[in-house]
Amino acid sequence: MTDFTKTRAMFDIPEGMVYLNGNSLGPMPKASPAAMTEFLNNEWRTELIKGWNTKGWFMQTNTLGDRIGKLIGAEAGSVVVSDTLSIKVFQAVGAGLSMVPDRRVILSDTGNFPTDLYMVQGLVKLKEDGYELRTVEPETVIDAITDEIAVVTLTEVDYRTGRKHDMKAIIDKAHSVGAVVVWDLAHSAGAIPVDLSGTNVDFAVGCTYKFLNAGPGGPAFIYVAPRLIETVEPVLSGWYGHEAPFAFTTDYRPMPGKIDRMRIGTPSIASFALLEAALDVWDGVDLNDVRTRAVELMDLFISEVESRCAGVTLAGPRNMDERGSHVSFHFEDGYACMQALIERKVIGDFRAPDMMRFGITPLFVGEAEILKAVDTLEDILKTESYKDARFQVRSAVT
Ligand SMILES: *Cc1c(COP(=O)(O)O)cnc(C)c1O
Repeated sequence: MTDFTKTRAMFDIPEGMVYLNGNSLGPMPKASPAAMTEFLNNEWRTELIKGWNTKGWFMQTNTLGDRIGKLIGAEAGSVVVSDTLSIKVFQAVGAGLSMVPDRRVILSDTGNFPTDLYMVQGLVKLKEDGYELRTVEPETVIDAITDEIAVVTLTEVDYRTGRKHDMKAIIDKAHSVGAVVVWDLAHSAGAIPVDLSGTNVDFAVGCTYKFLNAGPGGPAFIYVAPRLIETVEPVLSGWYGHEAPFAFTTDYRPMPGKIDRMRIGTPSIASFALLEAALDVWDGVDLNDVRTRAVELMDLFISEVESRCAGVTLAGPRNMDERGSHVSFHFEDGYACMQALIERKVIGDFRAPDMMRFGITPLFVGEAEILKAVDTLEDILKTESYKDARFQVRSAVT
């Protein structure tokens, strides 16, 4: 049984703050400063160039990938860490297209995170040759998977509403018509149990700065099913994915039979120090326990808000089996209301056009935080304090 008192004590959350935004940027683990100092003083400063070998920097893409793999049901040797999620989406969809060369349609949904769609639009433009991105409503994706589709690319949990796709049903349908599926796990990894191997996933990508708490700009990851790795085209063919990077030959040859071929170039090793410290928090944590607790807390949050806060309405499904680990409410003045909450140290965020979004992350959020958040929201709505002019000013990041 996961001890959430213990995990709560591993985070350094400012006194008095109710942090309901771990779905967007996880809080800092208490171990992070020492991990960074250790990297600076006892790795970079002392080892310098030797560190690539003596401190294992060169293979941290894989050693850290394996640790993330354990949290998403991936086989050892099937995940590498580096770059950004946008780049990993491009790489995975590009690799998927090369596996189905006779088809031209990439299918996604209108609820997908914009960068995922933008990256595919860039890929389509680059490839020319009749490629097309088709987006349909999330609820109709499964019916839109036909033998015209080369790659289906979806985010499992909707970043705005929390709606969760039925991963297994979509994969089975796609495979039955010969299509390949790329899953974005941005709001799944560290949030809900994921079983990449058991669900027969082809490709998956995700980031580490949300539910995995590796800090702003923490590196992304990519998973390729072991059954595909021998033939998959890396697309972004950098020297880190080469069969022999230090042979320095002029022709690209992908690393045979290994996930290493999805590596691109020199990763940010400093960011790996933070990721490593963040992953230590997960030792002894069972994601099934996290899920059970998150559902209890989401149920509590939704029922308290609905009984005490007039004017706000739940976004996304009520059935918890169809929801990830965040809860959003529609409210006409949602932006201003969220600013008023933040001023009173209840931190969520706002997603256009009208959603106040709250991440429910049991590693550091419990009933006390949920109730304090609802008390504060209730008061802001009753007093209409959100109508104050200072809450209307929009920042660049919402
Ligand atoms: C957060 C998020 C991203 C962000 O991509 P970056 O390259 O890390 O900026 C992409 N896709 C989804 C689905 C996300 O939730």
